[in-house]
Amino acid sequence: MHKKVTNELNFWHRIYVPEVIRGIWITSVHFFTNLGIHILHVFGMAKKHKGMVTFQYPEDPRPPAIRLRARHRLMKRANGTTRCVACMMCETICPAHCIYIVAEEDPDPRIEKRPKVFDINLGLCVVCGYCVEACPEDAIRMDTYIVETSSYSRDGMIITLEDLMNHDNQDMYPRH
Ligand code: SF4
Ligand code: SF4
Repeated sequence: MHKKVTNELNFWHRIYVPEVIRGIWITSVHFFTNLGIHILHVFGMAKKHKGMVTFQYPEDPRPPAIRLRARHRLMKRANGTTRCVACMMCETICPAHCIYIVAEEDPDPRIEKRPKVFDINLGLCVVCGYCVEACPEDAIRMDTYIVETSSYSRDGMIITLEDLMNHDNQDMYPRH
């Protein structure tokens, strides 16, 4: 039988100090256990026990998960032009209204339109991935693994068509 979830404080919660001591005790147990494991590893012992590790970010960033949704990119055709046909599906579905596209005629007579402007305001983006799901051309993806997108200004959070197309540096992709 499940225990009923309650917010009621019992006697020990109400007098406060025992709970503080309990919290310090739990933290100390974790700290000294982990410290002990790392010391044993230095002497080549207890290799089966894995100690907790802190990533030294930003020098040593944590490897991203392979399914991570990160900064967007626009895919290219073999001739280097964008696969985007400016259909506005992504702009329409975006719940944050952070995609802005202006279409223009494509010089290739087989293709109707291409984007003249394609801006994404990362300051508003909620990283939901709906734009990727909605695209009928597989033209937009969120697989750059670029997560450091902060800026000192609001304008700096807007990525343009040029930014979205500039992803030839394969070093941005993690090796799994
Ligand atoms: S990930 Fe979501 S919020 Fe961000 S641009 Fe795409 S649809 Fe909009
Ligand atoms: S849904 Fe795809 S093809 Fe349509 S405008 Fe967006 S990126 Fe371009």
